[in-house]
Amino acid sequence: MAAEPTYAAPSAGRLFFALWLPPACSGVLHAMAGAMVGRSGGRLMREDTLHLTLAFLGDIAEKRLPALTELADGLSLPRVPVRLDRLGFWAHNHILFAGSTAPAPALVALADSLQETLKEAGFLAETRAFVPHVTMLRKLLHPGKLPPLPAQEWEAEEIALVRSWRSDRGAAYETVARWPLHAAVNA
Ligand code: ATP
Ligand code: MG
Repeated sequence: MAAEPTYAAPSAGRLFFALWLPPACSGVLHAMAGAMVGRSGGRLMREDTLHLTLAFLGDIAEKRLPALTELADGLSLPRVPVRLDRLGFWAHNHILFAGSTAPAPALVALADSLQETLKEAGFLAETRAFVPHVTMLRKLLHPGKLPPLPAQEWEAEEIALVRSWRSDRGAAYETVARWPLHAAVNA
């Protein structure tokens, strides 16, 4: 008897949870990155793609998407302060990013708690130490002296589940679903 052909399970794509940036902050980071491309080269991220990743899931099977969104429906996570106040460069992957001198403990706790929940539910193989950063430029070889970053601060009010793929215009991202973070309850 001929063997049945096997098919890969349909994929929902490369997924990750992230915070989108407020437009004013994206504008500042994009303009700074644009000025650096002029001096040092690199590939500029489009302004509307700037994000801060909280938990990276990778390829998730389409049939697991309902369980994933249900899991997120059941979360009750607080709003968190975000402060980006320095530029950084990672030589190993040639990325210029905006980061925090001292990330708010609440932001770290949000990412840790999300990663832990996803791991317990089998959506993450491992949890990684969370280093909040927003990628601004890729393929940067010689950054030179990094300019100071005027501090960008806001309160994140929602998390997004995002799908990424490679388009002819570079990395492209699409919001699959969003969940509000709850406001602090005053005693
Ligand atoms: P591309 O890989 O196409 O150049 P990208 O890195 O933005 O673009 P993805 O690789 O899908 O797209 O990653 C989506 C987001 O998740 C990015 O913010 C990326 O930095 C982050 N990310 C990717 N891999 C990991 C990982 N293993 N652990 C933590 N975060 C990750
Ligand atoms: Mg990548």
